[in-house]
Amino acid sequence: MTKGLLAVFTGNGKGKTTSALGLAFRALGHGHKVCVIQFIKGNWLSGEQIFANTLAPKLDFHVMGKGFTWKSDDLAEDAALAQKAWEFAVKTIEQNSHQMVILDELTYLVRYKMIQEKDILEVIARRPAEMHVVVTGRHAPDGLLDLADLVTEMVDVKHPYASGIAAQKGFDF
Ligand code: ATP
Ligand code: MG
Repeated sequence: MTKGLLAVFTGNGKGKTTSALGLAFRALGHGHKVCVIQFIKGNWLSGEQIFANTLAPKLDFHVMGKGFTWKSDDLAEDAALAQKAWEFAVKTIEQNSHQMVILDELTYLVRYKMIQEKDILEVIARRPAEMHVVVTGRHAPDGLLDLADLVTEMVDVKHPYASGIAAQKGFDF
């Protein structure tokens, strides 16, 4: 009997999404089914998104949403997309066909008030008993940290960006 855990990877340091993907890699190795939902579409097509296609159907990988809010020219459209993405996540959790569901950058939707924290907490709290849920993103809200079984805060000790090194394919995306 498995006890489904809620894990949260937060903080300003690099390693939140990649830690979650590491867990996915581990779970897939044991033949578990994993669903990754990325709530923010980055500027580049990521290596994980490309590679995920080769791991279907054990790995379901969905990139939803539309880039970073502060660059947006249509906040209403972003909010609608965020809502749709969240509804998809709710459906995925409720249908209970994965042992692990990764909600990547979910915290941004709360931070930008596109979805309510209490909705997230409710859905995660009543997930299937054996399902692991992993949430990543900066500024994880307190309620989520309280609910979590595992919280790791990535601390930004040093990042190449600070020395003028731009994001690199295969390392940053
Ligand atoms: P990764 O996906 O590499 O694990 P992350 O999920 O912890 O990173 P995000 O906040 O989602 O970090 O940002 C993703 C992108 O921002 C990555 O390209 C990452 O290299 C970059 N990044 C993360 N942390 C920092 C930082 N402290 N300074 C500058 N860039 C960063
Ligand atoms: Mg991330």
